[in-house]
Amino acid sequence: MTFRSIALAAVGLSVLAGPAMAQNYPTRPVTMVVPFAAGGPTDTVARLIAQSMSQTLGQQVVVENVGGAGGTLGAGRVAKAEPDGYTVLLHHIGQATSATLYRKLPYKTLEDFQTVGLVTDVPMTIVARKDFPAKDMKELVEYVKANKDKVTLANAGVGSASHLCGMLFQDAIKTQLTTVPYKGTGPAMNDLVGSQVDLMCDQTTNTTGQIKGNAIKAYAVTTKDRLASLGDLPTVAEAGLAGMTVGVWHGVYAPKGTPAPVVEKLSGALQTALADQTVIARFAELGTTPEPKERATPAAHDQHLRAEIARWKPIIEAAGTFAD
Ligand code: ASP
Repeated sequence: MTFRSIALAAVGLSVLAGPAMAQNYPTRPVTMVVPFAAGGPTDTVARLIAQSMSQTLGQQVVVENVGGAGGTLGAGRVAKAEPDGYTVLLHHIGQATSATLYRKLPYKTLEDFQTVGLVTDVPMTIVARKDFPAKDMKELVEYVKANKDKVTLANAGVGSASHLCGMLFQDAIKTQLTTVPYKGTGPAMNDLVGSQVDLMCDQTTNTTGQIKGNAIKAYAVTTKDRLASLGDLPTVAEAGLAGMTVGVWHGVYAPKGTPAPVVEKLSGALQTALADQTVIARFAELGTTPEPKERATPAAHDQHLRAEIARWKPIIEAAGTFAD
């Protein structure tokens, strides 16, 4: 056999392998990268859907936490992974905001990922350590303004939802605070509960249990209406910070170039997970609801991502907080 015939045979095999691979997919475990630390809000969402997706796909969907740089490290890892469906990303609104927040990203947000489907839109809560000296939002704003040099605000790095929410908060009260970045709000929550840091704006998937257990203080929720799961908590508008209404939408991504039938299988498994009664019930306890089937599709997710990049670009540019 000549080198050329061997090469042609190899090309022929890989063309054949394409559809066959997609049909049998998955034949081994799928890694779901969460771009934040374990035990945090994104991790919680990922582990819930991964469990159901594993059942549908007949292979384990294994969550791997790759925290750091506000979610961009983990996202970068998936952007460069083999586009074979065995590495996927579960990311949130940060996938859209980091496209503007970072002057240089190690990937192209719209070109390097294949959207799989939207997952859920999680409210945020403004919370403080339990011994923080403010009983409501009015007192919180007064205290923060009077003590701005010593009040600390935790977040999960530039590009995280807690960073975005903290940015909106500082903007709303026209006061800059010292921010403390973590690899995720899981570890940040440990420090908040331990009173090592003062404030945080974080997702209900991480804060609900701590608020109900009185381990931290809560001042407002960032939804338009109050939440059934935290009924006593006023909305940001009720608490006087109307401009802070924000939700943390999540989506699943594959690397660009992942075969369409594989993306369809992933999307189908995601849709099944979102209709799973256990997932729905747990989401409700945590103050959120799964996206309906028609939003858990590659097309709806792609449209949403593009709209969100466009929506946040002018807001971030006006705030002028960029990272390299
Ligand atoms: N969702 C992140 C986490 O899971 C935190 C954030 O975006 O603020 O830690």
